[in-house]
Amino acid sequence: MLTMDTTSFAGKKALVRVDLNVPQDANGRVTDDSRARAIVRTVNKITGDGGSAILMSHLGRPKGKVNPAMSLKPVAEHLSTLLGKPVLFATDCVGPDAKAKAAALKPGEVLVLENLRFHPEEEAGDEAFSKTLSELGDVYVNDAFGTAHRAHASTTIVANYFPTAKLFGYLMQAEIDSVGKVLGNPARPMTAIVGGSKVSSKIEVLENLLKSCDELIIGGGMANTFVKAMGGSTGSSLVEEDLLDTARTVIEKAKAKGVKLHIPTDAVVADAFAATANTDQCAADAVPDGWMALDIGPKSIATFRSAILGSKTILWNGPMGVFEMEPFQQGTIAIANAVAEATEKGAFSLVGGGDSVAAVNQFGLAEKISYVSTGGGAMLEYLEGKVLPGIAAVQG
Ligand code: AMP
Repeated sequence: MLTMDTTSFAGKKALVRVDLNVPQDANGRVTDDSRARAIVRTVNKITGDGGSAILMSHLGRPKGKVNPAMSLKPVAEHLSTLLGKPVLFATDCVGPDAKAKAAALKPGEVLVLENLRFHPEEEAGDEAFSKTLSELGDVYVNDAFGTAHRAHASTTIVANYFPTAKLFGYLMQAEIDSVGKVLGNPARPMTAIVGGSKVSSKIEVLENLLKSCDELIIGGGMANTFVKAMGGSTGSSLVEEDLLDTARTVIEKAKAKGVKLHIPTDAVVADAFAATANTDQCAADAVPDGWMALDIGPKSIATFRSAILGSKTILWNGPMGVFEMEPFQQGTIAIANAVAEATEKGAFSLVGGGDSVAAVNQFGLAEKISYVSTGGGAMLEYLEGKVLPGIAAVQG
């Protein structure tokens, strides 16, 4: 397989799928440019070698129609500031303007194509559209992890037209390597921390993680379903009654595989789902009627913390409580700090696939984690053990 470091792009036109789906304000100004900054290394490597880069991305959900409010032009201008050089722009991703500008590209130049999703063929994974895109470049680079779980034209199908000239960009490679360190052959003990609201959205992740982890910590709203499945009283907490048996199966499987399962033993409870609610603490399996568990309590924090600090590999997906509300943040903050401390002591930590990424960013701890994933849905599917079409297309 080709890699960025072992490939010279000299004299080549690289067609690069990037993720420039950045948030913007009403005037089109980029409000968070982390996704644009994340691709700079890949673009600089290509142009630094003496190649040129043709960048293609989607922005928003234009549903197959041209929508000027979702044009990539302002993003291209922002990228030009980040790269410190002019960035050319094609008013469509296919057609005469894109073709002419791609053909005229000189070594070191960068061209951004207009929003791929202005064409319904992009999301449909259309063959003819993919072929037309492929004709713009000599080599295909996929650096858009966030859309790797979609078999769209630019993320997957186009790769078929570059049988021997396709590779992952730096960002995509880092995501793949990080998951490999966690699910492949992790340094042990390996602890998985899974939180968030519902068991239903995480069941496949739990099942898959049981194959590789030594300890499994369950927190967040989904922990209530486990507490109830074990016979506890959960008051008005979020519980998925139809998944009580599923929770019992997870408990049994963990036992059978020798995975140490940690379920919260205490909780911060509230009399309403609101930041202004009255709050109290109680045993996780004795939540009074009319009260709901919205965060893990201090005893659970202490147990979880010690499991995390004893780990060599840590995967964290999903918050421990309703961290968006100040009274229910402490569990998530404590776990984030524990993961950061374990990382400082030499553990490898991956945070990915949902709101735990927002949490580590909000609490200013992202720098202290080994790898914070950029792909929400894509990371979740990857952790479920699924083959992501965008990855398979480059590897195949
Ligand atoms: P997810 O997208 O599944 O990772 O879930 C994240 C959401 O779970 C966040 O918005 C949290 O507020 C929510 N959450 C975490 N703990 C609880 C809880 N105990 N009860 C209800 N919602 C929760």
